[in-house]
Amino acid sequence: MTASGTAAGTLFIVSAPSGGGKTSLTRALVPHLSAQGIPADISVSYTTRAPRPGEVDGTHYHFVSRETFAGMAERGEFFEHAEVFGNLYGTGRARTEALLTAGHDVILDIDWQGARQVRAQTDEAVGIFILPPSLAELERRLRGRSQDSDEVIARRMAQAHDEMSHHDEYDYLIVNEDFDRALRELSAVFVAHRLLIEGQARRHRDRIRGLLA
Ligand code: GDP
Ligand code: ADP
Ligand code: 5GP
Repeated sequence: MTASGTAAGTLFIVSAPSGGGKTSLTRALVPHLSAQGIPADISVSYTTRAPRPGEVDGTHYHFVSRETFAGMAERGEFFEHAEVFGNLYGTGRARTEALLTAGHDVILDIDWQGARQVRAQTDEAVGIFILPPSLAELERRLRGRSQDSDEVIARRMAQAHDEMSHHDEYDYLIVNEDFDRALRELSAVFVAHRLLIEGQARRHRDRIRGLLA
């Protein structure tokens, strides 16, 4: 997204089949990281899908018309965009870049097609795939969320195989059986990434200078 090595924050891509837990895990992750001094934000995607009960425009998604979405795509305002379950979804470029430059880690909760487009633009993104413990549990969670119709749930279950078949294109794989364990594992990926030598040497340049003086 930016020239190699210039972004202070890291782009994390989190994918899972619908109902796999990426929304609940990433939303729990942000305060968890913040408590450890790691600034992280979830990118709010643009979508042409209708809001679910309780979804707030600008918080869960920017809900836009197909016309608005097409105009943004034409003007190159998306970092990536894809059609999923017949709706258009896209990640806006401007805010993501500003957050990364400001040193924040940015979490993209996107599908495998979007993940591919991101990887084509930067080799610095970290990919995390979340698997449900079983198909039966995935369906139970989709129904338990009680926000989609039977028809939509059936379509999402049918697509789950396709999404999961791309799990090996990611760097990390987390099984979301026990929520707290999955959250700890997800957090560990972010913490470990912050400790990589390149970023640490940059953040602690003065300290290292002092230590080696
Ligand atoms: P949920 O995952 O079941 O909560 O359903 P959503 O309607 O939130 O998301 C539908 C699909 O669109 C999922 O596969 C998401 O990963 C994908 N998606 C959401 N936002 C984006 C985005 O900005 N870009 C891309 N490429 N895919 C997205
Ligand atoms: P996604 O964003 O991947 O579609 P969600 O985060 O909406 O998935 O999770 C789907 C449903 O499953 C939600 O109702 C959520 O509360 C529930 N859920 C997520 N993880 C777990 C878990 N480990 N155990 C039980 N229920 C879970
Ligand atoms: P939902 O409609 O249930 O919120 O999301 C359905 C799917 O769309 C999920 O798999 C989610 O990851 C994907 N999705 C959401 N936002 C984006 C986005 O901005 N880009 C891409 N590529 N996929 C997205």
